[in-house]
Amino acid sequence: MRTFDLVRNRERLYHELLADPEVEEVRRSVQSFAERHIYPRAHEIAVTAESVAAFPSGEFGAMAAEGLFRIPFARASGGTGLARPALATIAVIEELAYFSNSIAAIYDVHCILSGHALEAGGGDIADRVLPELIDGRAVVSFATSEPGASSDLSPAALGVVAEPSGDGWRLSGTKRWITNSPVANWIIALARTGQNTTLFLVDTRAPGVRIGAPDKKMGNHAQLTADVTFDDVEVASANLVGSEGAGLRIALRALTYGRIGIGSAGVGMAQRAFDEAVGRLRDRAVFGKPLATYQHWQFTFASHAMAIDSARNLCAKAASRLDAGERPEPEAAMAKISGTSAAVDLARDAVQVFGGYGFASYVEGDQAFYPIEAIYRDAKIGEIYEGANEIQRWLIAREIFGRELVG
Ligand SMILES: Cc1cc2nc3c(=O)[nH]c(=O)nc-3n(C[C@H](O)[C@H](O)[C@H](O)COP(=O)(O)OP(=O)(O)OC[C@H]3O[C@@H](n4cnc5c(N)ncnc54)[C@H](O)[C@@H]3O)c2cc1C
Repeated sequence: MRTFDLVRNRERLYHELLADPEVEEVRRSVQSFAERHIYPRAHEIAVTAESVAAFPSGEFGAMAAEGLFRIPFARASGGTGLARPALATIAVIEELAYFSNSIAAIYDVHCILSGHALEAGGGDIADRVLPELIDGRAVVSFATSEPGASSDLSPAALGVVAEPSGDGWRLSGTKRWITNSPVANWIIALARTGQNTTLFLVDTRAPGVRIGAPDKKMGNHAQLTADVTFDDVEVASANLVGSEGAGLRIALRALTYGRIGIGSAGVGMAQRAFDEAVGRLRDRAVFGKPLATYQHWQFTFASHAMAIDSARNLCAKAASRLDAGERPEPEAAMAKISGTSAAVDLARDAVQVFGGYGFASYVEGDQAFYPIEAIYRDAKIGEIYEGANEIQRWLIAREIFGRELVG
C-alpha cells in the first residue's frame, strides 16, 4: 500500500485556538483514517467516470465502521455525543476533502443535510432512520433542487407537489442533482404543500419512485447525482420530516450547517493543493534554482497561506456558533465563500506550479500519478452548490443592510 509522505503545512503554519482537545483528537484520528482508507483509492475515485458500480461503497462502509457518521450527532440520537459536534464534523470534512472532495461531499449530504434534517424533524422517523444512517446500513439523500428550481426554493418555484391522499400524501414531480440517490435507501424531498413546503421521507423502493442514471460531471465523479422522479408516490403521514409546512425552515437550517461543511471541504482541498505546490516549489528547479526562490511564488503562496488560515477560522467560528445554539450568520456564508474560493484559487495556482504535471493525472514516462488536475476539477462545484456564492453574498448583505433594502 502507498504511504502518504507529503509535508502537512497545517501542522507548521496554523495555530489552533478554537478547537478543544476532543475536536483535535477527532481530527488526528480522521487524518490517520483518511491516509489509510481514502488516500490509496483517491486517484481511482477521482478519475473513474460516474456509474452505480463506481459508488465508493468500501469507503462509505469504512467511514461507518470507524464511527465517522456518529460524530455530528448527540448521544440521544445514537451519536458520539461530543461537546462541540459541529466543530468536530467540519474537521472530519476537511480531512476527508484533503484526499477526496467526492468522499467529503458524500459525508456532507448523508450526515449533515440528511442527518441534520432528520434530527431537527425529530419524532418517530428520526428514531427509525437515524440509527440506519449512523451505522451505514442506509444511504440517505436530501432533495431540494429541481430542473427549474434550486437557488429559489420558495413554494411557487417548486414543481414537486404533495397532495393529501387518504390519510397520507401523494407526491409527483422531479428532483435534480440528488447526491447519493442512485444508491440511496431513503430520500428526504422538499415538496410544495398548498401555500407552504413540507419535507417527506421517501423509501426509494416505493412504487412510482424512479431514479435516473448518474449524471456525467466535470469533477467529484464519485459523488453520484441523478434525477429522482415521483410518479404519484404514496407517502404515509408518519413519514413527514417535522410538521406540515415546516419544510423550508428545516431544509434551510440543514443547508446553513451544510454550507459550513462545504467551506471546510474547500479548506481541505486548498490545504492539499498548497502542500503539494509548496513541496514542488522547493524541489523543482528552473533556470538553475528552485522555484521557491522566485519572489513571484513566495508572495503568491504567502497570500494563499492567509486565505487558508482565514477560511479555516471562519469555518471554525461558524461551527462554534452552531455548537453554542446560535444562528451562525454571517459567518456560515463567509466560511462557504472563503473556503470554496481558496480551493479554486489554490488549485489553479497549483496546476501552474506543476506545469505539465499539473495538467496530467498520470505520466506514462514516469509511471507516476499526479493529483492536482483532480483537485482543480473537484474544487469548482464548491462555489456553486448548497447555495451559490452569490447567494452567500446576498445573505451577508442582508446582515449588513437588512431585509428591507436587500430583500
Ligand atoms: C455535484 C452536484 C451535487 C448536488 N447535490 C445536490 C443534492 O444532494 N441535493 C439537492 O437538492 N441539490 C443538489 N445539487 C444542486 C445544487 O445545489 C444546485 O446546482 C445549485 O444550488 C445551483 O442551482 P442551479 O444549478 O439550478 O443554478 P441556478 O439556480 O440556475 O443558478 C445559476 C447561477 O446563478 C447565479 N445566481 C443565483 N442566484 C443569484 C442571485 N440571487 N444573485 C446573483 N446571481 C445568482 C449563481 O452564479 C448560480 O451559480 C447538486 C449539484 C451538483 C452539480
